[in-house]
Amino acid sequence: MSDVRNVIIIGSGPAGYTAALYTARASLNPLVFEGAVTAGGALMNTTEVENFPGFQEGIMGPDLMDNMRAQAERFGAELVPDDIVSVDLSGEVKTVTDTSGAVHRARAVVVATGSQHRKLGLPNEDQLSGRGVSYCATCDGFFFREQDIAVVGGGDTAMEEATFLSRFARKVTVIHRRDTLRASKAMQERAFADPKIEFLWDSEVAEIQGAEGKVSGLVVRNTSTDEKSELPVTGLFVAIGHDPRVELFKGVLELDDEGYIAVDAPSTRTNVPGVFAAGDVVDHTYRQAITAAGTGCSAALDAERYLAALA
Ligand code: FAD
Repeated sequence: MSDVRNVIIIGSGPAGYTAALYTARASLNPLVFEGAVTAGGALMNTTEVENFPGFQEGIMGPDLMDNMRAQAERFGAELVPDDIVSVDLSGEVKTVTDTSGAVHRARAVVVATGSQHRKLGLPNEDQLSGRGVSYCATCDGFFFREQDIAVVGGGDTAMEEATFLSRFARKVTVIHRRDTLRASKAMQERAFADPKIEFLWDSEVAEIQGAEGKVSGLVVRNTSTDEKSELPVTGLFVAIGHDPRVELFKGVLELDDEGYIAVDAPSTRTNVPGVFAAGDVVDHTYRQAITAAGTGCSAALDAERYLAALA
């Protein structure tokens, strides 16, 4: 079967491009589906990335992804800016179908489709993303030193983010729809004990105010009285959860309790031989560009070994 590739990679974030770089350098001639709309992944929607090693002065997210893309291409990765819309991963030869209906075949597949943070759904939320609105405290907390900021959410992630952000911020206001938290007792206690963290209960963000293209404040609505008030903050951290992009793989690959692709860690092997998964579609703990790139590398090496054993 001459049209059967060695490797197909689905996804073009740090995990997908790193898997592409490694498999290309191993002469496996990878075919990479980058996604039709968001080629380059989550970092295409951000500004400065200061924590990707090797860039002393930081680098803009889209520039980092362009570099990764060019590096993979330099070694022969074939990149296609299209979505995969269906997969059959069961046999030794796997097939994936793109939006034109074309079917592509390979002996190994790396899934690196990432995850999508849940948004509040407010009108200028996208416009102010990376300009005061953030979905990642670890990534952006440092930019808010000595500023007043808000965190939306009531689960473990929201409490973890609020506690982390209080190291930098002057004040952190947690805005939560209910009057009790969903977070574990330990996380709650840590947040309650933190003198920099305040809580706005029974509240939701009704409006994000912007001035000169940056967040300048919030309008907060009390969910029981419907009363509105203004909260002058320069940062809004949205911590209401993430959804892994697994639609194609439901009933095909084993998922974990939280709906992420299950792998035989520390390897990237899924429950289907020849299918490997990397990055945020697997990881609900670290969710960083460097960890996604790291597991993308592991997936490439796992695929390489799998193919070598087939030969
Ligand atoms: P993603 O980057 O999400 O890429 C997934 C790719 O898969 C996308 O290109 C998508 O188009 C593609 N895809 C999905 N479905 C399909 C399909 N069916 N067919 C083809 N392609 C498909 N991390 C840091 O370390 N530092 C930071 O400063 C930082 N800042 C961030 C700022 C923002 C606003 C956001 C949202 C995240 C930030 N992160 C940061 C987190 C980081 O971006 C992610 O951890 C990382 O991008 C995950 O990489 P990934 O390759 O797993 O997935």
